[in-house]
Amino acid sequence: MELPLGIHLLNFMYLDIDEINMAYTQVIDLITQNASNTKISMFDYIEMLQNLMAQIDNSCVYMHFYTQMLYEIMSETPTSGVERMDILEKRMPDTTVKNCIYVEHENAKKDKKLKTDRYIGIRKLASVIDEKKKERYIKFYHYVREEIIADIKRKRAILKEEIDYIYKKITNSQLEGMSNAQKLYVLDQTRVIENKQDNFYINKPFNVFYRAVPNLDERAEYKTSKDLIDVVKRDSTEIKELYEIKDMNDLIRFELLKFVSSDIEFKECENCHQYFIPVNRKDEIYCNRPIKGTEKTCKDVGAMNRHKEKAGDIPGEKEYWRVYKRYKYKADRKIISKSEFNQWNYMALELKQDCAEGETTVNDMLQRIEVFENRKKVGKK
Ligand SMILES: [Zn+2]
Repeated sequence: MELPLGIHLLNFMYLDIDEINMAYTQVIDLITQNASNTKISMFDYIEMLQNLMAQIDNSCVYMHFYTQMLYEIMSETPTSGVERMDILEKRMPDTTVKNCIYVEHENAKKDKKLKTDRYIGIRKLASVIDEKKKERYIKFYHYVREEIIADIKRKRAILKEEIDYIYKKITNSQLEGMSNAQKLYVLDQTRVIENKQDNFYINKPFNVFYRAVPNLDERAEYKTSKDLIDVVKRDSTEIKELYEIKDMNDLIRFELLKFVSSDIEFKECENCHQYFIPVNRKDEIYCNRPIKGTEKTCKDVGAMNRHKEKAGDIPGEKEYWRVYKRYKYKADRKIISKSEFNQWNYMALELKQDCAEGETTVNDMLQRIEVFENRKKVGKK
């Protein structure tokens, strides 16, 4: 799945966290159910589990990192016979849990065959006979899930702060005429010079490595360099530059760096105020995200609003009519007299005209025409 830079990042930022939490709960429940239910075949369970995990990963590629970690923990815990807090600590260094006691799985190396089985976790938990132990593991899985959600929130807060910072500065006219890479450099140094913070991008290297696609590294059949040359030429083998990403922080920093220093523009949606990347036209002002609880997107709502404006939404018009209706009601009820109402209307119509011609603002008009809200005030005038 290849999408333009930045899309994944913004997806991650605005992902529905309740849905993700629910999906991870389902994954754990499924494994838990299998541990006590022998009626459904292992094959069916594995397919269901695969589907669930794929659904999570498809909702946002950043989730793959968490899904893999949860899965690793659920595989290794029953195998080791101990809650694998170490995996959690290693994969999510920002996690708040520290100094947990754990025992390395002593058979980890011997069990190579088992390790290649991605669904070892289901089988292993099912084969744990001690019910108390099983309960403990399941509790631990849910604990990991909660930690994952907490970590997503933490990462998103950092990301949001960074994007806000970049967005505010980049749209600042002071930086006009600079390339995005230049802007990013200046912004990152500003952090050090003015805010006494560390750099976020500069001087933090990523490891680069090269790989042939399809991978030829481990193929024993290319014994001589001539063999290899023949294959590379024949298949037009692609040599890709890849970056080593150790954890989520690296991943976020990497995509941000590439995204901001490229020529991709991002904007704030005028409806939901979330950032988005315009896809069709650079002057788009609404994003394409669905509005929660409806089938409409911000773009749909935006189009509707624009249509209303075109259909004769003259400044002051609807405001005048709103007040008119209110005062007509008062006149009908004799709260104000008919002549007061008529006099008022004469004045208000003139102001409405001024408003339509741009000679006065809507607020100004309202201040002057809303005179009967409180009779005492009128009396003073
Ligand atoms: Zn929007």
